[in-house]
Amino acid sequence: MYDPKSLKAEDFINHEEILETLDYAEANKNNLELVDSILKKAEERKGLSHRDASVLLACEDEERVQKMYALAEQFKKDFYGNRIVLFAPLYLSNYCVNGCVYCPYHMKNKHICRKKLTQEEVKKEVIALQDMGHKRLAIEAGEDPVNNPIEYILECINTIYSIKHKNGAIRRVNVNIAATTVENYRKLKEAGIGTYILFQETYHKESYEKLHPTGPKHNYAYHTEAMDRAMEGGIDDVGLGVLFGLELYKYEFAGLLMHAEHLEAVHGVGPHTISVPRIKRADDIDPSTFDNGIDDETFAKICALIRIAVPYTGMIISTRESKKVREKVLHLGVSQISGASRTSVGGYAEPEPEEDNSAQFDVSDNRTLDEVVHWLMEMKYIPSFCTACYREGRTGDRFMALCKSKQIQNCCHPNALLTLREYLNDYASEDTKRIGEELIQRELQNIPNPAARETCEKRLAMINDGKRDLYF
Ligand code: SF4
Ligand code: SF4
Repeated sequence: MYDPKSLKAEDFINHEEILETLDYAEANKNNLELVDSILKKAEERKGLSHRDASVLLACEDEERVQKMYALAEQFKKDFYGNRIVLFAPLYLSNYCVNGCVYCPYHMKNKHICRKKLTQEEVKKEVIALQDMGHKRLAIEAGEDPVNNPIEYILECINTIYSIKHKNGAIRRVNVNIAATTVENYRKLKEAGIGTYILFQETYHKESYEKLHPTGPKHNYAYHTEAMDRAMEGGIDDVGLGVLFGLELYKYEFAGLLMHAEHLEAVHGVGPHTISVPRIKRADDIDPSTFDNGIDDETFAKICALIRIAVPYTGMIISTRESKKVREKVLHLGVSQISGASRTSVGGYAEPEPEEDNSAQFDVSDNRTLDEVVHWLMEMKYIPSFCTACYREGRTGDRFMALCKSKQIQNCCHPNALLTLREYLNDYASEDTKRIGEELIQRELQNIPNPAARETCEKRLAMINDGKRDLYF
């Protein structure tokens, strides 16, 4: 039975409920009166249920679809302004005991180069990332209790936070590791992680079990209930995601929103972020063998509808997507992007030799961080390296409450300018610096509160005098 409050995966991601939702959406996709009433409801900015959002996803009426895009764009402007937060992934180890058929790290892949960073190598990678200007990382590791036990992950987090090279610092470490126990989540919380990210891959149980034929990840319930254990372990911010291309996207979309509804119903706070990866070519993986791939247009519609359905949840897009696709969806609600990513184990300090391929997937956007920052500013976005909320304790329900009251806007905008100032002074090329200076002057005028504007101006001057890590 469908029950968003239940702690059992098959109740809160209820297969029958999803099938009924898809039937309902299909039956009503041309019911323009209903579609209009859902769009009206969406305008209240309180989000949409998985059923309502699924009707919008099914609707193909051009005028209504354009309205969905316009609404997503408006929400993006109202809740996130023109800021885009930047981060980089750091792969610690690609040893993995699972058999995921879409990932080259699966255990049976005998020719991929297996690597695990030593603490000395972690240090080198972090220095290289700091030297680019990164402040926020997402660490990634395969599931392997012998090679990558929780103690190893904790040691790496500790090493990452301890490195202060020149003016650099990693101020927020998000963690993307396999589903684990409440006790281990508690340890991650104590280590000071930001968001715990775990992609569901697919919400369709039968497909899930086929796609994960061996290893602990085969257990659908244990994987799907991981966020509840993470929250029980004290982690406030969790990040959801599905790998689009594995199953029918309409099914995944409904499942994703039901998962968000479940977290809200049980823990009083929805997901902090949602990621929207699409399956990509990798070592022994050919995406064309999966027949549920989605085209760029559908991908954009999904992004827009996530923005409308869960307005307060950040949306992340990685370098799996090309510059062109990223440009298309940035304004539809994406709030965070990765830049200059390496998806191999190591590779920031020194490029990986071709014969040593350890990458999880092929990157579609190969630009440097400076090029990404420059590109964002040319499109009038403010690249932000802000990590303030987590360090001020604005996480979980505190973060959501601020977000819903729009108070978060008074922090994000000036913080984006302060962290951009740091980036320009410490890492930017001359050309990036030039357009960055103009952008800061222009955007200072967009801080509505005169007192906040004045404080921001003072802090910008302090950064020019050598101070770092100032935030609202
Ligand atoms: S997706 Fe994760 S768990 Fe699966 S094989 Fe790849 S690294 Fe291992
Ligand atoms: S102030 Fe908080 S919500 Fe805003 S960009 Fe910084 S960390 Fe994110």
